[in-house]
Amino acid sequence: MTAEAYDTVIVGGGPAGLGAALYLGRSRRRVALVDSGDARNMAAGVMHNVLTNDGVTIADFRARARAEISRYGVEFLDDEVITVAPEGDRLVTTAKEAGALRSRTVLYAAGVRSKLPDVPGLAALWGKGVFECPYCHAYEVRDGHFGVYGGAVPGECLAATLTAWTSSLTYLSDRRELPEEEQGFLAASGVKIVPEKIAAVAAHPDGVAVDLTDGSVLTFTALFLHTDTEPRVEPLRPWLQAADLTSVQTDERGRTSLPRLYVAGDLGKNMQQAAMAAASGGLAAMAINADLVREDRPGALYDLPPAAH
Ligand SMILES: Cc1cc2nc3c(=O)[nH]c(=O)nc-3n(C[C@H](O)[C@H](O)[C@H](O)COP(=O)(O)OP(=O)(O)OC[C@H]3O[C@@H](n4cnc5c(N)ncnc54)[C@H](O)[C@@H]3O)c2cc1C
Repeated sequence: MTAEAYDTVIVGGGPAGLGAALYLGRSRRRVALVDSGDARNMAAGVMHNVLTNDGVTIADFRARARAEISRYGVEFLDDEVITVAPEGDRLVTTAKEAGALRSRTVLYAAGVRSKLPDVPGLAALWGKGVFECPYCHAYEVRDGHFGVYGGAVPGECLAATLTAWTSSLTYLSDRRELPEEEQGFLAASGVKIVPEKIAAVAAHPDGVAVDLTDGSVLTFTALFLHTDTEPRVEPLRPWLQAADLTSVQTDERGRTSLPRLYVAGDLGKNMQQAAMAAASGGLAAMAINADLVREDRPGALYDLPPAAH
């Protein structure tokens, strides 16, 4: 077994893991951050709603964050974590190249995967004409003609929200039966309903072309849809199974029901946005630091500093 090296190993180097690394590095903790480099939003290329950095490329955001955080001694490993498991009162994170990393705590910030519906051509346009988040992407295509795909996951609320950016909205239900109240809601929002089955989606000079099975083609400036997501918790599965759990339960500060394991970012309780993921990383980092101080000074009554409550 490797010698104990770290206070915290962070799994995931997106906004959540990086946010936590900054707080923990500045808390003088020994930290390693392991990241496999395939973030959920990579297809979009840029990030909006990031203060002082609106529209920053994801590559630039990550490179600059790493440069800042490196000043505080955090180590970065470009590697893939295979397992995280308890061993006595420590955790062992095993990565493909680096092998076993022993630590007092692990912050797990590996994010989630978007599960796209099985519509031919749609995945290729994900983040480039086909979007989920209005706040991230709708401004750039404002006043355009928006399609809202509601065939897999209902998107009526998404369609209503999008009326803030355009008055030209079409709801594609892809033959999903729409209850009367949903139809009424869409009509009240000024949204046209197209019930035909979708054959394929393709890039178009005006944005996105949607081929319907009746032979007609609709073109949109952008297509929006809600997706299901799945948590990227494969490395935790054996531990979860051993603890008789199917998922990681977490509180607002990222503490979980598994000892010494913390969670932040899209995997946690916050809204799935970069700034919120970074903030949740900071929150979890403060919880980790507080717990480590308490462990090192038994009897100390200590939690987050009052200003953070
Ligand atoms: C197409 C798209 C566009 C978006 N645009 C915006 C936007 O403009 N603005 C905005 O605020 N939000 C945007 N979002 C949401 C935003 O991307 C997420 O909320 C944010 O990235 C979550 O941060 P995170 O750190 O939790 O996870 P992620 O950013 O997904 O980072 C998780 C990291 O963990 C790593 N990882 C996973 N498993 C392992 C493993 N086993 N070992 C090592 N590393 C691992 C991954 O490689 C990844 O780098 C967008 C989402 C999508 C899908």
